[in-house]
Amino acid sequence: MVVVPFYNLVILPGVTFYFQKEYFREIVKREAQVGDEVVFIMLKDDKNREEMTESDFYPIGATGVIERLDKDGNIGIRTTGRISIDTIEITPDDITVTATDRPDVEDMTDEEQQACFEEVRDAVLQFLQGYQWGILVKNYIMQWKSLGEMTATLSYHLNISNEEKYEIISEDSIVHRMKLMEKALYEYIEVQRIGSEAQKEQAESHEQIYREEAIKKQIEILQKRLDDMHPENVSDIRKFEQKIHDSAMNEEARAEAEKILNRMKQEGQNGHEYGMLYDYLDFVTGLCWEKADFSEIDLSEAENILEEDHFGLKKVKQRVIQQIAVMALNKKQSGSILLFVGAPGTGKTSIGQSIAKALHRKYARVSLGGVRDEAEIRGHRRTYVGAMPGRIMEGIRRSGASNPVMVLDEIDKLSHDYSGDPASALLEVLDPEQNSAFTDHYMNVPYDLSDVLFICTANSVDTIPEPLLNRMEVIQFPGYTESEKVQIARRHLLPKAMETMGMKASNLKVSDAALHSMISDYTMEAGVRGLKKCLDTLCRTAAVKLVKGEKKSVSVTPKKLKEFLDSRPIQHDRILKDAIPGVVTGLAWTQAGGDILFIEAVFTEGKGQTVITGQLGDVMKESIQIAISIVKGMYPKKAELFEKNDLHIHVPAGAIPKDGPSAGITMTTAIASLVTGKAVAPEYAMTGEVSLRGVVMPIGGLPEKLMAAVRAGIRTVFIPQENVEDLEEVAEEVKEKLNIIPVHKVQEVLKQTGIK
Ligand code: ADP
Repeated sequence: MVVVPFYNLVILPGVTFYFQKEYFREIVKREAQVGDEVVFIMLKDDKNREEMTESDFYPIGATGVIERLDKDGNIGIRTTGRISIDTIEITPDDITVTATDRPDVEDMTDEEQQACFEEVRDAVLQFLQGYQWGILVKNYIMQWKSLGEMTATLSYHLNISNEEKYEIISEDSIVHRMKLMEKALYEYIEVQRIGSEAQKEQAESHEQIYREEAIKKQIEILQKRLDDMHPENVSDIRKFEQKIHDSAMNEEARAEAEKILNRMKQEGQNGHEYGMLYDYLDFVTGLCWEKADFSEIDLSEAENILEEDHFGLKKVKQRVIQQIAVMALNKKQSGSILLFVGAPGTGKTSIGQSIAKALHRKYARVSLGGVRDEAEIRGHRRTYVGAMPGRIMEGIRRSGASNPVMVLDEIDKLSHDYSGDPASALLEVLDPEQNSAFTDHYMNVPYDLSDVLFICTANSVDTIPEPLLNRMEVIQFPGYTESEKVQIARRHLLPKAMETMGMKASNLKVSDAALHSMISDYTMEAGVRGLKKCLDTLCRTAAVKLVKGEKKSVSVTPKKLKEFLDSRPIQHDRILKDAIPGVVTGLAWTQAGGDILFIEAVFTEGKGQTVITGQLGDVMKESIQIAISIVKGMYPKKAELFEKNDLHIHVPAGAIPKDGPSAGITMTTAIASLVTGKAVAPEYAMTGEVSLRGVVMPIGGLPEKLMAAVRAGIRTVFIPQENVEDLEEVAEEVKEKLNIIPVHKVQEVLKQTGIK
């Protein structure tokens, strides 16, 4: 008799077990033969043979007979019955057992047992139907004859403990034992089902991922092939991948661009964010991220270029050359920020362009006129619908370089409202301490602006916020005299206009007289913008005549201007024909340069009130009050006039309210003239602020005002003594045509005009 200890199995009678020989060392050791009897005893714990003691075994086991012993080591044992173990004796070499048979309580018929078995077996088969491999084991299962065999075969895998397995073995009642086995088997099926469902789900999700990856790979490969065949429509993703790779972006920008590229890949071409992501990548990869090296500056070449492109502007050019020289010495690409101030059309922007040309650098113009929102400078955050980069970065992109000469046009036209202050954003752009890492909200990554040479332009400095103005160096563009304008037209504007119209020099002749007339009769400006427009119109009209074949060459004289320009001469404010008491000519500064204006004062019947008309600001109104007080003080005997009448003063709309004070002496003179009844000759004009004591104080915009005086036909101009220094700025041509009289006190004006 061979005693075989086992663990974690359900060994019941009537079942054939197949084992490897090694598994049952005892059988090998005993050199057991077919037909030998075997006793199975069940271990409570999984123990080695050496450690086993009597108490490690359950008291119920089974008996069997060896049916087969293969050469290749397989043993077949058929169990015959259950036993109650009386004693177990364990020595290192041997285990001996005494036992008595333990019969079942036969409380179930064979048919009932068979029916129960078949039910469980069908459940197993049904479960297996869901699997392809189920077919393979189906035949094997069909060989099972009893629930005991089924339980025994699956026993190692059953989801019950060793103790529960023993419980099945030890159960004497067949009904109860069948119930326990049934339960264990159904549980087994359930566990398998859940396990396999989970597995299946997992497999499915894995499959999906793998499939997706595989499809993406395939698409990539196919796309690459397509791209190679048609390089002209390389896909967006590939294009950007390449661009990001080739670009010299800083790390932050690269990381951001790659992030967006990934999102774009996931989004797919039909995704609703695709366009936005495309625009972003298009923008950042369109920027030049490479830092340009400093290239040597040829100062005399720069001088020549500035000279060639612009006539006159001596002081401006001088200052620009100084700036370039400093940059050349420092070997720096940027320097102090220049602010060009002057009337429109005086060449501010185009000088900026020439500076870029002189430095062999790219040029970008950014117009700031009307910018109210900080986001227009610094960009919108990308969370906004329709977000866009700010104008500065947009300018950089257009220039295609990281070190362009950037003209910020019309910074005096910046305004601010609830959506932030664009001026403070601009400060950040211009501040050399901060602009090396300027972060546009849209880009969300820093960009180095420290090599950009900024030049700003403005019509006047009055509206530029103080902190911004402090950062800049103001260069005045005073406007051109008539003869300068003729030169500019001759040398630059006319040849350019003719060239764009495709005309040869022999096709069109414009006489000097015609140019003069154009300047004085058809335009009224400090700059040359209007003149340029006139010349363009003139060339277009001439072009029609040439094409129609009327003439081979067209010549323009002053008389023909009306026809060529197809407009009437402008009605300039010219000096008055008659001298009228109470009417005096003043000089005003306007956005378009200078102009003359007539201040008119009359007494009307009334009760000593002052009526003021014209669009006047508070400053202007105050200076009228001062003028009245001065005149009252000077002519105490005439005080009655002011009491019995209303004084009506009219200042024409052409004057700008802020420029009010400079009309001070004109108002005083007009009221004095009215009071005394002595008219001032129309060829006199004046400008200056007055204090209550009659002291004449300095004013701004003298060159423009004097130019306007010449244009209007004025002969004599009174200016504040303190403005004499500014005469240096005034063109000789203008000074020659005028009798300029500096005055300290308003009384001097009254004396010289014959009022006093
Ligand atoms: P601003 O910026 O001051 O309004 P622009 O620079 O736009 O004026 O000048 C208007 C036009 O007049 C441009 O075509 C410019 O070339 C031309 N222009 C202005 N000043 C000169 C000058 N001194 N010499 C030649 N062309 C000039």
